[in-house]
Amino acid sequence: MLHDLQILEDPGSSPGQALDAPKVAAEETPGARRVYLETYGCQMNVSDSEIVAAVLREGGFGLTRDPEAADVVLLNTCAIRDNAEQKVRHRLDFFRARKRKRDEDLKIGVLGCMAERLRHKLLEEEHLVDIVVGPDAYRDLPRLLHETDDTGQAAVNVQLSREETYADIAPVRYDTNGVAAFVSIMRGCDNMCAFCVVPFTRGRERSRPATSILAECAQLVDQGYKEITVLGQNVNSYRHTHDGASVDFAELLYRISLLSPGLRIRYSTSHPKDCSDALLHVHRERPNVCNYIHLPVQHGNTDVLQRMRRTYTRDEYLALVDRARSICPGISLSTDIIAGFCGETEDEHRDTLSLLARVRYDHAFMFMYSERPETYAARKYTDDVPLAVKKRRLSEIIALQTRISLENNQQEIGRIHTVLVEGPSRRSDAQLCGRTDSNKMTVFDRQDFEKGQYVRVRITGCTSATLLGEAVV
Ligand code: SF4
Repeated sequence: MLHDLQILEDPGSSPGQALDAPKVAAEETPGARRVYLETYGCQMNVSDSEIVAAVLREGGFGLTRDPEAADVVLLNTCAIRDNAEQKVRHRLDFFRARKRKRDEDLKIGVLGCMAERLRHKLLEEEHLVDIVVGPDAYRDLPRLLHETDDTGQAAVNVQLSREETYADIAPVRYDTNGVAAFVSIMRGCDNMCAFCVVPFTRGRERSRPATSILAECAQLVDQGYKEITVLGQNVNSYRHTHDGASVDFAELLYRISLLSPGLRIRYSTSHPKDCSDALLHVHRERPNVCNYIHLPVQHGNTDVLQRMRRTYTRDEYLALVDRARSICPGISLSTDIIAGFCGETEDEHRDTLSLLARVRYDHAFMFMYSERPETYAARKYTDDVPLAVKKRRLSEIIALQTRISLENNQQEIGRIHTVLVEGPSRRSDAQLCGRTDSNKMTVFDRQDFEKGQYVRVRITGCTSATLLGEAVV
């Protein structure tokens, strides 16, 4: 196994998918030419980089975790926010300077969402890169690398597909702790939320065959993985039909849960409109489907939700929350919030605060609205909330949610949770960390426990983000 994966920027198709820390794989692979692959953005991009790594290995390329040792540098990019794009541009400038000054044979490529969105700019106006490959064209990567070698010209494939799911490609896993893995089950999105660039960069929604998903999950179980997060831009709209038989998301999750009682299953990221009662009953009935749902609401006011084209009202969302809690008592909920969307009034902002107070999420990903080119909002609305007002509203949202998260965590004190150990805690080797079923990071003394073990932990303290505890033996 392998090479280099760094998550350098956060949000994904929905901010709820955001990863907060860089990941670097420990191992490298040999090959005639070595590729350094750097990944920005969300868990879907991590999953895509695992596919890219498999395609490159099949094509005879080695992978390195040292950019200085690389013949080819590939950046797998995120376009969801302007600052994500700016980081990639700075990184491109850095590698271009190296190429210009001392490494003229170096090839530089942009993959993923920015490739799809900015292909003309990157290639023609700015002459920044040698290879541009969209999210549905990764199979073409080895050919494009050879083409740019042979011709000295930039090579590009940004064709979006209605079928491509990479179902037959066995991803190269970056997660060297062997505990948790991502499995991509669908691609693209048909929802066209007004603020979101994903339908333009990732194309139409399509689901991968259930048989290939179950085979990949079974292989992960055989390899000793203990947790699978199934991924999609709108994961719970999954539906695949074969020979007249249809499998929806609830059914798929149920079947995955049967693979092993020792396997925990999570998913990201869902849309409230696709959170069916059947899905909630799978949460209730299957002990290894985590009692946790990330349920992005985005805003607390119905008029704003309509402007966002989210397809539900505040009341419908709250009714869904009530239904989830009645079918799955104790279920943990998290969400995404956008502050300062186009036309947001002070009263509408207060509706977001009151929704947070009503739902009392355990956690939220909270962002200021930033306009993305081509989106419905960019074409139809004015980004008219002043920056200072956006910042103040966001800080009010964060302050309220931080207090709620802390109060929720304080209620955990004295309870016992089963924690899947992920490894040493960030602060001390003498402590381990892992997540509860409800997705709360928990830290406790190491004793003789190891990563990959399930440990019963009594909660003894907390912050707003972390539970502290002691193992119950
Ligand atoms: S559901 Fe909306 S926010 Fe999520 S990826 Fe699709 S368009 Fe974007």
